Amino acid sequence: MDDAQFPCTRCGLCCQHISHIEQLAKFDRGDGVCIHLVDHLCSIYDDRPEICRIDEMYHKAFKTYFTKEQFYYENGKVCRDLQIRYGVTKGE
Ligand code: SF4
Ligand code: SF4
Repeated sequence: MDDAQFPCTRCGLCCQHISHIEQLAKFDRGDGVCIHLVDHLCSIYDDRPEICRIDEMYHKAFKTYFTKEQFYYENGKVCRDLQIRYGVTKGE
């Protein structure tokens, strides 16, 4: 599964809830929304910080603890929880 990509629906919810993420503190516009989120998309995608890059974070910090499938599954649970909480049923 190493060539797989995380099945992000581009709902943008993770980028609207960054207040608990220390590495993104300078991007918080004050209400938990990232200053770089524009129309549900990251406006600095190619230059986004490492913490926003799921595969890089997996290889750097989590691969000792999870298979990639497990890591995607755990991250996907957070996405689904956010989507349920905010009534989002599809991306964009
Ligand atoms: S919450 Fe999950 S599905 Fe939505 S944009 Fe973020 S990573 Fe993608
Ligand atoms: S930098 Fe981009 S990917 Fe990271 S939280 Fe902000 S909008 Fe989302």
